[in-house]
Amino acid sequence: MTQLLAQATPYLTVQSLDARRLFIEVCYLAASALFILGLRGLTAPDKARRGMQLAAAGMLLAVIGTLIKEEIVSYIWIIVGLVVGSGIGAAISIWMPMTAIPQRTAISHAFGALAATLVGIEHYDHMRHEYMRLAARTEMPLDFSTFEMLALGFEVLFGSLTITGSFMAFGKLQGFVPSRPITYKFQNEINIGLFGLAVVLFIGLIAASSQDWWHPLMFYLMVALGLAVGVLIVLPIGGADMPVVISLLNSYAGLAASATGFALQNNVLIIAGALDGASGFFLSILMSRAMNRSFRNVLFGAFGAVAEQEAAVAGADERIVKSVSVDDAAIQLAYASSVIIVPGYGMAVAQAQHQVRELAEQIESRGGEVKYAIHPVAGRMPGHMNVLLAEANVPYDKLFEMDEINHEFSRADVALVIGANDVVNPAAKKDASSPIYGMPILNADQAKSVIVLKRSMNPGFSQIENELFYDPKCALLFGDAKSSLSKLVAAMKSL
Ligand code: NDP
Repeated sequence: MTQLLAQATPYLTVQSLDARRLFIEVCYLAASALFILGLRGLTAPDKARRGMQLAAAGMLLAVIGTLIKEEIVSYIWIIVGLVVGSGIGAAISIWMPMTAIPQRTAISHAFGALAATLVGIEHYDHMRHEYMRLAARTEMPLDFSTFEMLALGFEVLFGSLTITGSFMAFGKLQGFVPSRPITYKFQNEINIGLFGLAVVLFIGLIAASSQDWWHPLMFYLMVALGLAVGVLIVLPIGGADMPVVISLLNSYAGLAASATGFALQNNVLIIAGALDGASGFFLSILMSRAMNRSFRNVLFGAFGAVAEQEAAVAGADERIVKSVSVDDAAIQLAYASSVIIVPGYGMAVAQAQHQVRELAEQIESRGGEVKYAIHPVAGRMPGHMNVLLAEANVPYDKLFEMDEINHEFSRADVALVIGANDVVNPAAKKDASSPIYGMPILNADQAKSVIVLKRSMNPGFSQIENELFYDPKCALLFGDAKSSLSKLVAAMKSL
């Protein structure tokens, strides 16, 4: 009997091992499919919530699959990480305001890239020692394969660049680092030179033997250069372009994760990283396009520096701005048969989305038609306005993208601009010298009348003057958007 069991044990172990591997691969496959479905859901506002839930379910499966891998020797540190990470994640989701989402995203990328880089460094160190030990024992020249070193190098170079780049982006958006572009002579040349040096080291790592004493030196120098380049490439980029940069860094973090997948032969990491890399890249392109800026201009143009000079010049002239009282604005809205609401960053700052819906209901209850015009880069992240308005239960069918609604402004009685500025600035169409010239804007200036809710004459994110505010048919209702809207709702109710 004992002999029989001894014979059966290896067989049983192989069987259970195969079953475990099969289960892991099924988890990974399902997770990958759920990630793709999740991304698909994010293409439409009404399906976005479901998309997020599918992607979260996919991540759960990926984590379960990874946790049952036979390589795991102890769960202690994993549990510690899980508790600490979940605690931080829960705190962020509860307390971080919506307006801080861009910097939150930046810091998530920094940690994602940090994880990929640390895994890469550990893998390099472990495998190098392993190859050296085996080579000494077998007297065979064992070493990293070209593919293995390619994946590892890519992982740590792009990972390290993303860590510091994302921390810098976070600092700029949070105000820890000046958000204006920081420029100096030969900046682009220095950055390209340092990155080029890192690439040369990367090639050297593939060509040289890891047994050589200088191999780790090249490896860690490449990591250090990656970290330095991350800081230096974000320095000259102004706060206005930061979301594009964050999205691009997201793409790098995804590619680093994908490379980690190749290095560790982990399918779900390869797929999830590639999805992350591709979607981040496309998002950056779409955002640049919506601002009518080339990618090159975003990365090397030091956009905000030019804008500040323009603002200073424009600020010198004195024109008349018409302000309107709450009561007069309420009367105008009450008798309008068609109103187009243009939400912008100020609505997000004021968290006025619920009051916006209440005002729209008041207008509709008096027979007026209300539509919302959503600019692709209104706010500080793509979909910012959609998320806020969805939270306030504004029906999706009342939200119109720029191309769908722009021709309707000329028929609208009132364009109600709530905390938007750059996205309705006619200079983008008329003033060839303006830094935002060519950016597609919402045609609020074509409406029969315009009411703008903002607190002061301060410019928007691009730091440039807005001609619209001086248009005789435009009136400004000064004050915090939430408070102005509450007063407007109350005034309309009492009419
Ligand atoms: P802007 O940043 O141009 O303007 C926001 C306006 O809101 C300001 O004029 C400000 O004026 C006003 N405001 C701020 N707080 C309040 C408040 N509490 N109550 C009332 N008003 C307030 O916003 P837009 O949405 O028009 O434009 C977005 C800008 O961000 C564009 O330049 C775009 O290119 C850029 N951007 C957006 C990205 C995206 O993905 N969405 C990505 C990259 C860049 P005041 O201080 O006087 O109140």
